[in-house]
Amino acid sequence: MNLVNCRIHAKESLVLEPLAPLEPKPDEVLIRLGAGGICGSDLHYFLEGRVGNFVVREPLTPGHEASGVLEAVGSNAKGLAPGMKVAVNPSHPCGRCAACRGGRENLCERMFFLGSASVFPHAQGMFADRFILGSRQVIPVDTDISLGELAFAEPFAVGLHAVQRAGGNLTGKRVLVTGAGTIGALCATAAKLAGAAEVAVCDVLDRPLEVARQVGADLTFRSDQTDAGTYAGRFDVALEAAGHPRALTSCLDAVRRGGVIVQVGTLPHEGMQFPANLVMQREIDYRGAFRWGIEFDWAVDYLARRKVDVRPLLTRQYPLSQAAEAFRHAADKTRATKVQVVGAGSPVEF
Ligand SMILES: [Zn+2]
Ligand SMILES: [Zn+2]
Repeated sequence: MNLVNCRIHAKESLVLEPLAPLEPKPDEVLIRLGAGGICGSDLHYFLEGRVGNFVVREPLTPGHEASGVLEAVGSNAKGLAPGMKVAVNPSHPCGRCAACRGGRENLCERMFFLGSASVFPHAQGMFADRFILGSRQVIPVDTDISLGELAFAEPFAVGLHAVQRAGGNLTGKRVLVTGAGTIGALCATAAKLAGAAEVAVCDVLDRPLEVARQVGADLTFRSDQTDAGTYAGRFDVALEAAGHPRALTSCLDAVRRGGVIVQVGTLPHEGMQFPANLVMQREIDYRGAFRWGIEFDWAVDYLARRKVDVRPLLTRQYPLSQAAEAFRHAADKTRATKVQVVGAGSPVEF
């Protein structure tokens, strides 16, 4: 079997390099890639060679949403054994800074997050047929959940964290989610789990709205075909997952006085107008949600026990050897929600 490592060298330059044999150290595990979801940041690295001000300065293996199967475990990797199915946590907070010690490790000052050019040398990601990680990064799962579903733990954790930032308990609340991509849809799923009485999702495409309904949205609408007054003041909470200035404006109109808006999506870095006086006059709480903390463990648990069903979000899987094709498919939002790559030796199920 020819094993490969998928590396982005620069804009539009994705190279499948042969993978040298790997041997885990005592505290490490060798993982066979089960499924790896292609996320917006992976696409930005591929299509633009950068994500905002994180520029690819050396070959970068993308991928931070992955499941796998343990192939070998180091002598100190307690409780782990070859053959185990695992969710992989891509986050390495330092554990010592004020944010970590205050229970907000997603805000760690010395974060090392896999598949990111935010640090140099870059934090290499998981789009490789085999990779090595510290044993603390894996969570074994013994239910019949598929590797493809388990790879949704990371984006689902983003949705769960957004809901935590909105207050956690949404019992009786009306919630708007702007953007029906993977993150928006999983924000809707998380809001339903948190007890929301009504979850509405809007987008500018029909296909993602259909998917959002399948994973829990009570109501969907086309934001580009709906009069701004229709939903004015209707919602207690808005989760902005489109990363578009117009979506943020919709949130500001759609939440009631004293409502909460959580910014989950990444907005343009420059040239954005923000009507801050609405925040003042209507006493809106405008909060950020960045990645997740303990919610990753919650996401694994919900998925493993099928308390949520993410299967409608999975558009297609490709063998890692067809990574470039997979990236192109993932970039086309008219026909893709989540596209995954699958490591050599793991099943292509979708
Ligand atoms: Zn992601
Ligand atoms: Zn820290």
